[in-house]
Amino acid sequence: MGRGQGNKSESLSQHAEGRLAGYAVSEACSRGRLHKEPSPTYRGEFQRDRDRVIHCAAFRRLVYKTQVFVNHEGDLFRTRLTHSLEVAQIARSIARSLRLNEDLAEAIALAHDLGHTPFGHAGQDALNACMASYGGFEHNLQSLRVVDELELKYAEFPGLNLTFETREGILKHCSTKHARKLGEIGRRFIDRHQPSLEAQLTNLADEIAYNNHDVDDGLRAGLITIEQLRDITLFQEPYEAIKRRFAQLDGRRTVHEVVRRMINRLVVDLVETSRSRLELVAPADVEAVRTQPGPLITFSDEVRNANDQLKDFLRTALYRHFRVHRMSAKAKRVVEELFGAFMDDPRLLPTEHHQKVALLEQERGQAGRARVVADYIAGMTDRYALTEHDRILNPHGVS
Ligand code: MG
Repeated sequence: MGRGQGNKSESLSQHAEGRLAGYAVSEACSRGRLHKEPSPTYRGEFQRDRDRVIHCAAFRRLVYKTQVFVNHEGDLFRTRLTHSLEVAQIARSIARSLRLNEDLAEAIALAHDLGHTPFGHAGQDALNACMASYGGFEHNLQSLRVVDELELKYAEFPGLNLTFETREGILKHCSTKHARKLGEIGRRFIDRHQPSLEAQLTNLADEIAYNNHDVDDGLRAGLITIEQLRDITLFQEPYEAIKRRFAQLDGRRTVHEVVRRMINRLVVDLVETSRSRLELVAPADVEAVRTQPGPLITFSDEVRNANDQLKDFLRTALYRHFRVHRMSAKAKRVVEELFGAFMDDPRLLPTEHHQKVALLEQERGQAGRARVVADYIAGMTDRYALTEHDRILNPHGVS
């Protein structure tokens, strides 16, 4: 990766990397950045990736984006920013326990949701439907687009010029159709290879984080109840243990105790199961990890089944709850109407997007125009999308 000889960053990185397992990603085995850059002075390369993510505009906007609940529903609910921080915390713990690269796991975790639309899944589905005849919209692909192209901050390159390994972790899923256009980063979806262990664990840290905070937020919002959750294995076991030991504990503290123990159970199981698999398979290096037939970071069968039961419950009881559906239906309309208005008249877009519309229209016609509109809408926060909708489509709206 073109590291400087004998400089401070090398000794710091070597110190941190000295304790890594042979199959972890290290700077020495990194495939590097698209645009060559001198090494950072006091940081490792993956720490630099993390810092670039934290300083980018898309990261700041995560504070006003949601997953299930629309942002203005209440100040106590998770946003995509707090979610990303929770994922980073869980991912770092797992990485450290398995002697994997903690800095890389952290960089992937903080960047993994950068491409999400406003209004969570509802916004993403709506934008994907709007883009159906123009190549579709995938949020993982959009996260990569944000870090590769859309963030314009650095003098010498577009995007954040992150390392291959951070980008690999961001692109969790991708259709083969899109993968073919992505070059090296899309290759594994065609070859059916695995990403690094750090990418695999961050993907599961994401799942651990959102299932558990959806339980917490769902209870707080009164959309699901403890009575319902008592039929769910992962919840029931810690709940009964706490009730036996702390009979007088109030509701919120009980819920917090249960959720914390659920997260702990999942993390411990993931670390222990993955550790045994890694010992058994003993991949020599990250390339041997990539050519495995399946991921090596996994839950045990028992915990995976319990986790699936929790996911099924959340899908039917929470995500399809009529109050969530009302928010989703409204969000879908806002996205569809904004998309339609900008497609009909791209001059409604702020001036800085006009040149890009002209350029992409020249290259790809309507699909080019649609991509600029999708990028603009995907970048919006929940409240900005509502304000734009009001400005553009409500005759009595704000000017
Ligand atoms: Mg996520």
